[in-house]
Amino acid sequence: MIVFDKEKYLKDIKENGIGATDQCAKQKMRYVIEDFILNSSYRKNKIVEKVKEIAREYFTGLPDEIVNSEIETMYDESKAVVCDDEARSEHNTKTIHLYVSEMETITKIKDEKLMKLAYATLIIHKHCSQFSANGVEKYHQSVRSCDADIYRVAELNDVSGTKKNKMWKQLTDMGLVKFYVKTNTAFKFNPEWIAMVLFTVPFNVDLKEDKTGEEIYMDVTNYDDLMIYLKHFKGQRNLIRCTDCGTPIERTGNSKCLCIKCAAERKRQSDRARYSRKLAFA
Ligand SMILES: [Zn+2]
Repeated sequence: MIVFDKEKYLKDIKENGIGATDQCAKQKMRYVIEDFILNSSYRKNKIVEKVKEIAREYFTGLPDEIVNSEIETMYDESKAVVCDDEARSEHNTKTIHLYVSEMETITKIKDEKLMKLAYATLIIHKHCSQFSANGVEKYHQSVRSCDADIYRVAELNDVSGTKKNKMWKQLTDMGLVKFYVKTNTAFKFNPEWIAMVLFTVPFNVDLKEDKTGEEIYMDVTNYDDLMIYLKHFKGQRNLIRCTDCGTPIERTGNSKCLCIKCAAERKRQSDRARYSRKLAFA
């Protein structure tokens, strides 16, 4: 599963812990461990202890020494990769720029579902293929990705497999996407990798080295509702933009003009201000 908003993902894990039946438990633990290694001064023992607490429910019933050794192994593996620059940049939250030219290409597609699929492909491509080389934002040509993530973003979970394949064919014929499934010959070593879905988005202007002259439509900040950027570009009526960050939001009955993130940030600030006023008067 792709994690778009790493900060939020980490916060959720730390607050809610890892449940007994969590399918992504290992991925989550690795995330937390890497975060502690990169962003805290904790040593190994303390990190193991913290992770054990977060995954308490997941490890219920297992003897302490087994749990410890499992987390320690994960720690050692993470520690080995985390110091490498690529892993570090992988851990940072990326910025997705949406260009006007890309949005125009996408919104020209007549079929609504096809349009959503093209849009989701672009988003995932930008998110997954982005890397940093000496501080410069770059993109890999093709992306190996889990197509379930694309369908989730495109809101196409209910569409049949046959229809999905037809849609990929259509986008390919239109020259917008290159999509193919390849069998990995190294699957023996890693069974999850038996089939790789690879795709390229040729109209992605980010792939070009020179981005001057390309007008940015918006930067993505709200990963909970990625579709809203497409709706806004198409001029859907009930949408306004957050006063603080500019992300599109739905107009509600009250006068609120802030997205959830910025509203929370403002509340944090006013709480802090109130607290310091209280201290000043005490
Ligand atoms: Zn906002």
